[in-house]
Amino acid sequence: MAQIDTPALLVDLDALQRNMDAVHGRILAAGLRIRAHGKAHKCPPIALLQIAGGAHGICCQKLGEAEVFASWGIHDVLVTNQLVGEAKAERAARLAGRVRLAVCADDPAQVEALAAAAARHGTCIEVLVELEVGQGRCGVAGPDAAVSLARLIAGHGPALRFGGLHAYRGSAQHLREPAARQKAVEEACARVREAVAALTAAGLPCDTITGGGTGSYAYELASGLYTEVQPGSYVLMDVDYAANQPEPGAATLAHALQGLCTVISAQEGRAVLDGGLKAFAVDSGLPRVLAPGWKVASVSDEHTVLVPDPAAPETPQPLAVGQRLRVLPGHCDPTVNLHDWLVAIRGEQVEAVWPVAARGALF
Ligand code: PLP
Ligand code: MN
Repeated sequence: MAQIDTPALLVDLDALQRNMDAVHGRILAAGLRIRAHGKAHKCPPIALLQIAGGAHGICCQKLGEAEVFASWGIHDVLVTNQLVGEAKAERAARLAGRVRLAVCADDPAQVEALAAAAARHGTCIEVLVELEVGQGRCGVAGPDAAVSLARLIAGHGPALRFGGLHAYRGSAQHLREPAARQKAVEEACARVREAVAALTAAGLPCDTITGGGTGSYAYELASGLYTEVQPGSYVLMDVDYAANQPEPGAATLAHALQGLCTVISAQEGRAVLDGGLKAFAVDSGLPRVLAPGWKVASVSDEHTVLVPDPAAPETPQPLAVGQRLRVLPGHCDPTVNLHDWLVAIRGEQVEAVWPVAARGALF
């Protein structure tokens, strides 16, 4: 640990393992597939651990992420997004020759481009119809649109295969009260149920119904509707997710992702760390510093300023230049995207240095 220069991003392997055991155990016990979301870590060695720990495959948000994970030997990838344009259809068709690839669609134009490219390459892309379930983002509006798009996909066999529904209610994930998350997911499930019934009646059964995340997967599991769930942040955790009240009986997830910083300035009533918003994303709130009696006051490009926390029960111990402190990032996904490497530690020992290989895969 003493040899790690800062600012660095650590992954505590014992915490990561506990998080996987807790979440994977619940999902597998409910008989669903785990499709861990790779956008949370962008780090193929973590995806390989998730697969070794029972995940069926992974999700990616971007085709470029999927290409990176595929090159690390991950063979089952769902891109939980719409791919638009010739160039992406071409790359998707090529990738489908190397891995089992599924993508989402909510418009005939996406489907036609994928079908033409996959036919040219002699490959097969599985396409899920994305259903809008209250997230207010992508997705067809309801059962009729779902049936007509699924029919279009199924008509493009063998280049395309209709796989089922993508129904992700992201806005449920960070509702603080479990009952509020449950209610949001149950509303989403009502829409999924209608769409599945219409598709089945049209002779288009759904093999896969996928969605859910760290905050809500317990309710997708309970729905009896979903066949797989897509949690991402659970494996690393962050301050924003830690503010969620857990479901009764659920294990509290551990902060496997931690920043390591050095105090570069210590003045009366103030200390400054060597990492700022280029090291830790602040879109979902400030990082938390693990120094009793201190709190993060502000974050700028390259600096994090600490001040005594009047609300803390402990009196702040003086901080000295050169001292190293850990911080918990506010939001894991955009934080890992700022780093080339994750330093995997167990206790005070470094076990591995992992590339954030899908970092910056924006397209
Ligand atoms: N599925 C989709 C489509 C997402 O966009 C996300 C995250 O935004 C997830 C799953 C994983 O969510 P989380 O990291 O909150 O578990
Ligand atoms: Mn996130």
